[in-house]
Amino acid sequence: MLSYRHAFHAGNHADVLKHIVLIQLLRYLGQKDTPYMYIDTHAGAGVYALDTGYAAKSAECETGIARLWDQKDMPGPVADYVQLVRDMNPSGKMRYYPGSPYCADRVAREQDRIRLFELHPSDSKILQENFQKREAHLAEQGQRPASRGKRVMINKSDGFTGIRSLLPPPSRRGLVLIDPPYEIKDDYRKVKQMLDDALVRFATGTYAVWYPMLQRMESRQLPDKLKRLPCSGWLNVTLSVGAPVPDGVGLTSSGMFIINPPYTLEPMLRETMPWLVKTLARDNGARFTLETGLPVTGPGKRADE
Ligand code: SAM
Repeated sequence: MLSYRHAFHAGNHADVLKHIVLIQLLRYLGQKDTPYMYIDTHAGAGVYALDTGYAAKSAECETGIARLWDQKDMPGPVADYVQLVRDMNPSGKMRYYPGSPYCADRVAREQDRIRLFELHPSDSKILQENFQKREAHLAEQGQRPASRGKRVMINKSDGFTGIRSLLPPPSRRGLVLIDPPYEIKDDYRKVKQMLDDALVRFATGTYAVWYPMLQRMESRQLPDKLKRLPCSGWLNVTLSVGAPVPDGVGLTSSGMFIINPPYTLEPMLRETMPWLVKTLARDNGARFTLETGLPVTGPGKRADE
């Protein structure tokens, strides 16, 4: 089922959490010269206009980026993210919002590789066009060598299965963002199944799974299932901007589950999340949770016990 269009949700509180974490994960990988590969299994359209079409209609950015736009006292990772969004809005007016592929393109270096999967015919076409426009613009300005060729590759295919052919990346360094729509409950099962396979192919990779926190059983069970995956550690951060609402009415909470996170991520989030909660809160149900651990091997048991 391909009815989901991310434009409805562009720049909302869930995108804010996802893209802040994504940018910091990429910054960490960029600290070493060795190239890395960024894989986005569910890429979306890449760039969203906030003042027209679906995004303007839903105005979900009012729950997220719009609340950060004019803030002055932002913690470093939030300032980094807001600056990236500001860079694509040189007039100072908030008109465009970057999707995960655009964030990655901005942060990744020449030597890094970006591999994007997007199944929806319209969004996949928009994604292609967005990258072509950006390439042409950079080439015009002489900012990118013509040989850049395969730095970014876009696949109009199923990211859940397409990822297999890319793992492990040649440099054995990589980040995979897994961000399906979850409109069909099978997406929850597919995320886990994909990770079971991916961790055999590329055990040391970092995997970032975005998930909505809903009442439905599959959503509530996902983090616990991910905690059982074989890895060297995990981090689970959730952001609620308000009290829970019934499924289908809207989304107040979401999470990012990171497998094999860098050691820098937890302290960074401990500093950042309280500010984010305070700034994005819509009622006194706003909060965050942050937990880290080793794979759980059975009820209440950890692999190292
Ligand atoms: N990652 C994007 C971002 O942060 O900007 C948002 C992605 S959106 C939540 C999910 C996207 O996955 C949609 O654009 C949808 O068309 C696409 N999609 C759904 N099923 C897919 C599949 N099996 N493989 C690849 N893309 C898929």
